Amino acid sequence: MSIKKVTQHPSQNEGLIFERSQTGRVGYRLPKLDVDPISLDELLPAELRRDDGLEGVPEVSEVDVIRHFTRISTWNYSIDLGMYPLGSCTMKYNSRLNEKTARIGGFAGLHPLAPEEESQGALELIYKLQEDLAEITGLPGVSLQPAAGAQGEMTGVMLIRAFLDARDGEASKDRRVMLIPESAHGTNPASAAMSGFTVKTIRATADGLTDMAHLRELCNEGGVAGLMLTNPNTCGIFETDIKEICDTIHNAGGLVYMDGANMNALVGVARPGDMGVDVIHLNLHKTFSTPHGGGGPGCGPCLCSADLAPFLPAPRIEKDGERYHLNFDVPTSIGRVKAFYGNFGMMVRALSYIYTHGHDGLREATESAVLNARYVSKKLEGAFDKPFASDCMHEAIFSHKNQSKKGVSTLDIAKRLIDYGFHPMTVYFPLVVEGAMLIEPTESVGRADLDAFVEAMIDIDREASENPQLVIGAPHSTRIGRLDEATAARKPVLRWRPDTVSTAKTA
Ligand SMILES: *Cc1c(COP(=O)(O)O)cnc(C)c1O
Repeated sequence: MSIKKVTQHPSQNEGLIFERSQTGRVGYRLPKLDVDPISLDELLPAELRRDDGLEGVPEVSEVDVIRHFTRISTWNYSIDLGMYPLGSCTMKYNSRLNEKTARIGGFAGLHPLAPEEESQGALELIYKLQEDLAEITGLPGVSLQPAAGAQGEMTGVMLIRAFLDARDGEASKDRRVMLIPESAHGTNPASAAMSGFTVKTIRATADGLTDMAHLRELCNEGGVAGLMLTNPNTCGIFETDIKEICDTIHNAGGLVYMDGANMNALVGVARPGDMGVDVIHLNLHKTFSTPHGGGGPGCGPCLCSADLAPFLPAPRIEKDGERYHLNFDVPTSIGRVKAFYGNFGMMVRALSYIYTHGHDGLREATESAVLNARYVSKKLEGAFDKPFASDCMHEAIFSHKNQSKKGVSTLDIAKRLIDYGFHPMTVYFPLVVEGAMLIEPTESVGRADLDAFVEAMIDIDREASENPQLVIGAPHSTRIGRLDEATAARKPVLRWRPDTVSTAKTA
């Protein structure tokens, strides 16, 4: 870890809250006690009291606390600060209106065990969101339980397994191969393997598409339970053979799972159900603008065809006339995948997003997202190597081929972007492109911000050829430069002890 000279700006040089501690300093003042003091024993029996003292708790004033935490909050890049071009993540703006709706008392304060008759509004909201997502995807079966895309994926793969077991009986055990393209997100093979499938990898063509000849070959080998496909794929390219891909899998007796993380390129324009897809997951925290990050809370709805719907997680929300109720008695269900009904707050926000935009607004968001990505793709194609010739959908892909001749890699370019005030793009994913840079601007940026980003990238390309060390040593503007990220992830130091040396002290 390289720590640079301490700069003058206070927000760049912050010790730990423990190091600000001064004995006796407090953030409150109480009036003198004017009632008979109760004995401590009467108030709290000795066996319930801790006896190790409270050593090490920082003694600070209110303003110490506020300034400390406000300062360190400014070290973080956030979606409210600027463009966040993380490809495959759809980091779009999280609208304030969503937050306002989620804070409505009746929604925010509702207990998950409240009886049905007292939670009709919440049940109606879940039901309506399910209906809207079914319309958007063209798939009628919905469960909003999964808490993330990866969990929605696993739920979908379990549905496929349950369906095959019910359809084929004993013979189902001979159908355990899941086909997955080499460009897939790592969660795809993980979900398949955890559900008892063996993964076979499908090659990509030079255009970044599924290799149809290889797909047919793998189908002919037999035992195919299904295919997991992202569309547009993780290179940002629409799989134009999707109909034929689905037919090939269906003819082989398998089912088609679509990873819907890239639905921001399709909402309001095209429906996976109409393309022949049997199961899909969505990421409300990507496509439907609910907050994304920190591991949740998220929501990864799983949607499926009518044939697979009997296997969806229970309880199911049902409508009887004007009343909504939860049906726990679904014998064919794969069971519950999440406590209660999933992350309800995310559902409120997503429905708020859908209602804010309406049919035409959702389509416009999709079109703007694709337009923005194509703008970046065109503007940068002179400076950066573009591995595929076809027009991209909602994300643009480049490689470091041109810059690596000067010893500058994708990681260096990403780190240098921080100095220009941007969050780096997705790097080294998908694996099919060496030194990949996947840029997804989303619809939330205007022309001026796009131009500033493009300009930064072009400047970095110039630096890479004129002064490569400048890029290789980046970032230069942050308090801490390059971290040993593997060690930070594997051996995090999360607890302060009096002998802990903070980074501010060593700086
Ligand atoms: C984000 C993503 C996932 C996983 O979604 P999480 O909500 O992060 O679990 C799966 N596939 C693709 C292509 C993704 O981009």
